[in-house]
Amino acid sequence: MSQGPVQPDRPDRPEGGQGDLFSKFDDTIAMRANLLASGVTDPFALVMEKVHSPTRAVCNGRETILLGTYNYMGMTFDPDVISAGQQALRDYGSGTTGSRVLNGTYQGHRECEAALREFYGMDHAMVFSTGYQANLGIISTIAGKGDYVVLDIDSHASIWDGCSMGQAEIVPFRHNDIEAMEKRLKRIPEGAGKLVVLEGVYSMLGDVAPLAEMVRIAKANGAMVLVDEAHSMGFIGENGRGVVEEAGVIDDVDFIIGTFSKSVGTVGGFCVSNHPKFDIMRLVCRPYVFTASLPPSVVATAATSIRKLMDARDKREHLWKNSRRLHGGLKALGFRLGTEEPQSAIVAVIMPDLEQGASMWEALLREGLYVNLARPPATPANMTLLRCSLCAEHSDEEVETILGMFERAGRATGII
Ligand code: PMP
Repeated sequence: MSQGPVQPDRPDRPEGGQGDLFSKFDDTIAMRANLLASGVTDPFALVMEKVHSPTRAVCNGRETILLGTYNYMGMTFDPDVISAGQQALRDYGSGTTGSRVLNGTYQGHRECEAALREFYGMDHAMVFSTGYQANLGIISTIAGKGDYVVLDIDSHASIWDGCSMGQAEIVPFRHNDIEAMEKRLKRIPEGAGKLVVLEGVYSMLGDVAPLAEMVRIAKANGAMVLVDEAHSMGFIGENGRGVVEEAGVIDDVDFIIGTFSKSVGTVGGFCVSNHPKFDIMRLVCRPYVFTASLPPSVVATAATSIRKLMDARDKREHLWKNSRRLHGGLKALGFRLGTEEPQSAIVAVIMPDLEQGASMWEALLREGLYVNLARPPATPANMTLLRCSLCAEHSDEEVETILGMFERAGRATGII
């Protein structure tokens, strides 16, 4: 049958008018149209055509250095990790086709949870299908109607969504503001359930939370504490256990949330805890129960990677060296950065606005460098950021090359 000419929209289909459920996205549609009208490559539609290593890929037909991934420890091409995944694929097939509480718990899921318990030195570990679901599940399940969640205003979307889903009272406080947190905690009615939710590293600016003080105050005020260590696992702390380890409060927190999509180098999420009743979560946590479990190849790569991260001192040291060099070099070139000193593997470069940010992003891509362009609402204070995340596999020479690229692109776009 011939397709015939393209038909105009059916008149009974609302478009832009009353009843069009898409009209709430008009501002975002206009923002994207304006950006693309300036002639810039769409920063939100990049395709990695080939990936050679944790730090190199072909993007838009060009060999590119990757400086905008969460591959902090460079585990994605580790030969042991890859062969564990291949073996599991052969031995167990491509997927579990079921929930963890029915047919979806394989030996590999148990081994992955054992690796996490060992990594953190904690009694319980529960693996979710993503880090997003780990926050969504744990927060919504433990903090329900009548409970209070006190959280940093710059918390990740999965934390906010977990609060909404659980229907607890949400009490936000100013980013990393210890006094504001304490004030909010003290205002909560006597006897109410309280959960303080913090992140080790905040991913937009790459800054670290003052966890020693915050955890102490939360505990003194009778709150349970959950810390999302998505951006510090494997890297920060003597054993890579995160900012909680570095700050000496790992034994005081009730839950650590993490992800396999960053340092671990695959996909998945988890929660570890010493709470004696923690295991009941497996029956009551809906984002754990009502979804399929991770494929056997994924949990096998995760478990292998986690075990290798226990013994990755050299990688941690090299990643710190990279972070310090990039931060110092960009600062010396005159870029405005998210933190005065390097605090993590993330170095955020603050752009004057979205248009200039997008043209700098594109100039860097033409140089052969990929960074993340981050814009509101993901960013704090309406900032446009070029987010650089370093990898332990970036060589010293690559970091120098990156600085040269920033210098040329910065001058070409007038940002420095
Ligand atoms: N928490 C934080 C702080 C994050 O930055 C992210 C992802 N960027 C997540 C949780 C969710 O992790 P995942 O990618 O595994 O869903």
